[in-house]
Amino acid sequence: MNSPIAEAVETRSSNACPACSHPLDAHDTLGTRYCTATVSSRLDRGCICPREVRTGKPDAKR
Ligand SMILES: [Zn+2]
Ligand SMILES: [Zn+2]
Repeated sequence: MNSPIAEAVETRSSNACPACSHPLDAHDTLGTRYCTATVSSRLDRGCICPREVRTGKPDAKR
């Protein structure tokens, strides 16, 4: 029998932000601070990541 679970695991990168689940690579200094504060204060205020990151669509190469 195949287990359907195996496929779903690899989607999220290991360095995802705990606050907004965007890759930490996508955060600038301010964004990292912002999200760190969000987590430590348990706020629900979204994040300040750049738009490109939020859409989840990497822009097509030109
Ligand atoms: Zn974040
Ligand atoms: Zn974010």
